[in-house]
Amino acid sequence: MDASNRTAAAILTEGDRIRAVGSEAEVRSALGGRSARIVDLAGRTLMPGFVDAHSHFPGAGLYEVMADLNSPPIGEVRTIDDIVDRMRALAAKTDPGEWVVGMGYDDSLLAERRHPTRADLDRASRQHPVAIYHVSGHLGVLNSAGLARYGIDSTTPDPVGGRIVHDDAGRPTGVLEEEAVQRWLAPLLQPDAWQALDIVRAANRLYLAQGVTTAQSGLTNRQVMRGLVLGSRLGLIDMRLVILPDADLASAQLRGEVDAGPESDWIHVGAVKLVADGSIQGYTGYLSEPYFVPPGDDPTYRGYPRIPRADLMALVAKFHDAGLQLAIHGNGDAAIDDILDALESAQRKNPRADTRHIIIHAQMAREDQLDRMQRLGVIPSFFELHTYYWGDRHRDIFMGPERAARMSPTRSALRRGIRFTLHADTPVVPMEPLRMVWAAVNRLSTSGAPIGPEQRIEPIDALRALTIDAARQHFLENDLGSLEAGKLADMIILDRSPLDFPQSIDTVRVDETVIAGRVVYRRGDD
Ligand SMILES: [Zn+2]
Repeated sequence: MDASNRTAAAILTEGDRIRAVGSEAEVRSALGGRSARIVDLAGRTLMPGFVDAHSHFPGAGLYEVMADLNSPPIGEVRTIDDIVDRMRALAAKTDPGEWVVGMGYDDSLLAERRHPTRADLDRASRQHPVAIYHVSGHLGVLNSAGLARYGIDSTTPDPVGGRIVHDDAGRPTGVLEEEAVQRWLAPLLQPDAWQALDIVRAANRLYLAQGVTTAQSGLTNRQVMRGLVLGSRLGLIDMRLVILPDADLASAQLRGEVDAGPESDWIHVGAVKLVADGSIQGYTGYLSEPYFVPPGDDPTYRGYPRIPRADLMALVAKFHDAGLQLAIHGNGDAAIDDILDALESAQRKNPRADTRHIIIHAQMAREDQLDRMQRLGVIPSFFELHTYYWGDRHRDIFMGPERAARMSPTRSALRRGIRFTLHADTPVVPMEPLRMVWAAVNRLSTSGAPIGPEQRIEPIDALRALTIDAARQHFLENDLGSLEAGKLADMIILDRSPLDFPQSIDTVRVDETVIAGRVVYRRGDD
C-alpha cells in the first residue's frame, strides 16, 4: 500500500515501529549483528491493518445489552412476531419501569413489509418502556409506555429535521424519524458503567478478529469520548481510535471546555461529524428526484434534509473557519448538493489548503458531484456494502435500476483519481473489511444479482481504500496505512492473499492482528 503498491518478502520491526521492509537479505542486513525473533509466515500474507474510515465504535458491542433484531443474512428476525418475542424475552430480564431496547430491525425484510407500531411493541410489555432502532439508526419505534415516558401524544410537534409518524386518527403510531430519534432514542444508547465495559470489550474483540487496527467512533458526544479515552488508557481497547466529535462536542472543544488529553499515537480527534440527511432504505435520504416506489400516496416524495440548508451552510462555515476538518453524512444527491454548496462557499470565503473534508456515504453521488469533489479535494467515503445488503431493494424499491446501478460510484471516483475510502458504518452492518473488499470488487446483492458491474474495482484499489487512503482521510498516513520503514507496526496476517481470489475475498481469514508490534489477536485463541 505504498505509493507503488510494492510487495516484499520480509519486514523488520523494533518496538512499535517498522525498521525495514524488503528482501530477506536486505532485512537481515538492516538487522546488523543484533538478534531478533524470526517469524516464518509459511506462505501466508502480511498486510497493513485495516483503518476504519467510518463506524460507531463501540456500537458493535451494544448487542451485549440490547436485543438483536437483524434479519438474514446478519440475524434471524423474519416477522414482527419475532421482534415482539425478542423484546418480551429481554423485558422478562429487566426491572419493570426500566427501558428495554432492541436494534437492527429492517421493515423491508419483515414478512409484513412495514414498521412495527406501538401496538406491536405493547404486546412485548406494557410494564416497560420499549424502544427499537431501525437498522439504519435513522428511525425507531416506541411502545405506549415509551411514548408516555416522554409525554409524546397527538399534540407533540415534530422536531426540526424529524418526524413523529401519526395514524389516520392523528395519534402517534410509535414510529419516529431522524431528529425525533436523535432526541428521544439516542439517550437510551448511554449505558451504565458496567454495561459500558461489556460493550467496549465485545466491540474490541469483534474488530480485532477482523483485522481492524484503527477504529473510528463517529458522531461522538462528550460522555462517549470520556469513556473511550478512559478505556484506551486503561488498556481495555487494543486498537488506535479516531474520534469524530458531534457538533456540540466540537463546539465545546473550540470553547476550551473539553479536552481529549494530549494527541498521541492511540487517540486522534478527527473531523466534526454532521448529518445532512437520513437513510435511503428508511425513505429519509434527501433525493433530487422522487423515490422509485414512494412510501405513501405522494409520487413526488423525495425525502428531506435533516439540517435545513441555511443552518448547514452556517455550521460548515463555523467549523471550516475554525480550521477543523468536516465529515458530513449525505446519502441522497440533493443532500450532497447542499453539502458541496456549503463546503464550496466556506472554502471560497476562507480558502484553506488540504482540508480533506469528507462526505460520509455519498451513496447517490452523481458524476457532476464527483467532479466537484475532485475540484474541492473532498473525500467520499462509500458504504459500498449497500450493493450487497440492500442492492436488490435499492433496485426494485428505493432508487430504481438506473440509480441503483450507480450507487457508491467507486469506479467513477477512481477514474478521476479521487482517493475515496470504504466503510461499514458498524453497528449498521458487521465490521468485516474483507467483505467490503469483496463487495467493491464484485458488486453482487444477497440474491447474487450484479448491482452496477461497471462500478466494480480491483482488489488492490479496494484494499487501499481500507488502509492507506483511510489513514489519509484521518491525516494519519505518515504513521499508518502501509508497511514502510518508520511507520507504526500495525499489521495483519491473512491465511491467503486477497489479490489471488477476487471472487472469494470474503472467505479470506485473519489469522493474527498485530498493533504497535504486539500480537493482540490470534485466530483460535478467542
Ligand atoms: Zn454512521
